[in-house]
Amino acid sequence: MCVECSRTAPEARPHNSIDRRDFLRLSGTGLAGAVLLGGAGGRVLAQAGTSLKGEFASAATEYSVPKELLMAMGYVNTLWEMPPPEATDYQPGDLHGRGTYGIMQLVRTPWEDTLGKAAGLTGFSEERLKSERAANVGGGAAVLADIAGEEKPPELDGWYEAVAEYGGNDLYAQEVFGVLEDGASATISTGETLNLAPQEVDAPQILTSRSGGGADYGRADWRPAYRGNYTNRNRGVTTVDSIIIHIAQGSYSGTIGWFQHRRANVSAHYVVGRTGRVAQCVRNEDVAWHAGNWKYNRRSIGIEHAGYAGRRWTDSTYRSSARLSAYLSRRFNIPVDRQHIRGHGSVPGVATRCPGRRFNWERYLRLVRHYK
Ligand SMILES: [Zn+2]
Repeated sequence: MCVECSRTAPEARPHNSIDRRDFLRLSGTGLAGAVLLGGAGGRVLAQAGTSLKGEFASAATEYSVPKELLMAMGYVNTLWEMPPPEATDYQPGDLHGRGTYGIMQLVRTPWEDTLGKAAGLTGFSEERLKSERAANVGGGAAVLADIAGEEKPPELDGWYEAVAEYGGNDLYAQEVFGVLEDGASATISTGETLNLAPQEVDAPQILTSRSGGGADYGRADWRPAYRGNYTNRNRGVTTVDSIIIHIAQGSYSGTIGWFQHRRANVSAHYVVGRTGRVAQCVRNEDVAWHAGNWKYNRRSIGIEHAGYAGRRWTDSTYRSSARLSAYLSRRFNIPVDRQHIRGHGSVPGVATRCPGRRFNWERYLRLVRHYK
């Protein structure tokens, strides 16, 4: 077996654990179902009787960070949902196993540990930080406050650098400040509706990264994956015969940052954001490590989508991704059907439900034909 196979073969893991993990991660019932399942296991994932709005406010007061900033971060991270702790446990070589926890996406990987840092700062156990929403929000606020240091910035704009450091890249801060500027509103799976009013911030536009001419696709920003996270090849029209669709269970910046990390050992060719933005991370001719099956990696193009399996896919995501698939279909003579444009979960030997039941295949293929 070649090294890429072993790195991208989740089927090598015991099937029981995978099935449960992937069910929690990509359940057709969505996050609400996952939360209930987690609760049945004895964990309290979102405390009854408390509001997320109140939890953001308490954490903001306790750690002297702006409430609006915490809300914007939580919205970018998970659209204000509290994923079950199992949702993104770190799994070596698993596209979706990023080791991030909760609304504040506290991290536990072999190389980063803001979960442990949050435990030290708050006194909450790691278990509570992973599974209790209020603790998780407090933990994220504590880590952010710690990054900002003793002298807290008086204005929202002054937090930009700390937010970039928290998320691991500047793109994250750009996403968060974009949400602050525009505001956000959503009804989450607990039934609570949250509103973040637009804030007066000097939000830098998400900078395009077309320099270097790396992207094959003209509409994509070139955000290259770390060179050790994919296989250099010279694939042509006869080799590439399919497109594999993924849902990230994470944000646009978080997904790109994951592919750019030198220890992630995973990548996809493209990442499509919820606003329709597209990044290319691996050249079409190279082999990205996304399918969990070498034979499929070798012959496919992987498209990752920011978002969560339990949440509605945005119109912008559908349109932008379909336009990309139409381009790939033309470029590689890939037929527009379910045989050749398929979900990660349909790859043989891979126990995942990615991209989840919320993905409307009929609509997607219709759009791909439209743009082709
Ligand atoms: Zn996937």
